[in-house]
Amino acid sequence: MIIILKPQAGEQQIRALAQQLEQRGVAIHYSQGTQESLMGLVGDTTHLDEDWLRANDIVADVRRVSEPYKLANRRFHPEDTHVQAAGKAIGEGAFAVIAGPCSVESEAQLLEVASAVKASGATCLRGGAFKPRTSPYSFQGLENQGLELLREARRVTGLPIVTEIMSETQLDDFADVDIIQVGARNMQNFRLLKELGRSKKPILLKRGLSATIEELLMSAEYILAGGNENVILCERGIRTFEKMIRNNLDISAVPVIKAKSHLPVIIDPSHAAGIAWMVAPLARTAIAAGADGLMIEVHNNPKAALCDGAQSLNPAQFDELMADVRRRVAFEGKTLL
Ligand code: PEP
Ligand code: MN
Repeated sequence: MIIILKPQAGEQQIRALAQQLEQRGVAIHYSQGTQESLMGLVGDTTHLDEDWLRANDIVADVRRVSEPYKLANRRFHPEDTHVQAAGKAIGEGAFAVIAGPCSVESEAQLLEVASAVKASGATCLRGGAFKPRTSPYSFQGLENQGLELLREARRVTGLPIVTEIMSETQLDDFADVDIIQVGARNMQNFRLLKELGRSKKPILLKRGLSATIEELLMSAEYILAGGNENVILCERGIRTFEKMIRNNLDISAVPVIKAKSHLPVIIDPSHAAGIAWMVAPLARTAIAAGADGLMIEVHNNPKAALCDGAQSLNPAQFDELMADVRRRVAFEGKTLL
């Protein structure tokens, strides 16, 4: 971190600031130029608040030269992290396909989709029991009954289950969920992230609708800082000016996250596309870009789905996509679990 000092900064004020910073555990390299004077901070500056520094009368500007996240940072953890979920590893060459309906609607619907995606080779079953809907009048999910149906589908198929948590008050109910999903709308629910940090559960953290990659990594940092290292990141499309797609899939997030972080990253082409025919091309792009997995919405009867029917593949379309995914994952030298 570099602090640019105002030209009128007095020697005594500079010394006072340096002392405060040293008390916070960083070493200072002071350099006096003809135009401006700088303080270079050496050491762990992740806990230093830029606004606190800017509020100081002698500070003209503050620039970070290293990232504000430490635990999620590849610089301090060069090897890829692989997350263990229900005996399966995701990342580090192991490719996961998480598939299932947007929401759990009934026993018959879930069991039909679960056995179809299992037969096609999916790694995990997804299904929302608690749905964060834009309208309070839309289907909100079957809630605890939905969780129960997911457990039943796991018993029948053997597939680990992935489902979305809405609040930290639900942690006990989610105790036997294999991967807990944090939805885009909750990416910055910091109280929830802190509680998930205290658990040891694998967490699938989705990027917020308007969140930067750094903000996503800072949210992951909350979970890691609590002691939970099992974080999988998910790019699901961001909002832009483009109206022809539901969300813009930010495929560049894959190489950027891979460069900046050691955490596995998966792509959700369904919520990006918003329409079923676009899911397969986006999924192919994700594999080529180096993603560690995919999350795909599949419904036995998309036209009748209570949520996200337009973007859901039917089981036959998913099966066809999986044949292609298998080939492409092998081409990348990865293993489809
Ligand atoms: C979902 O996965 O069904 C979902 C609600 O996704 P997102 O949080 O990305 O909108
Ligand atoms: Mn959905």
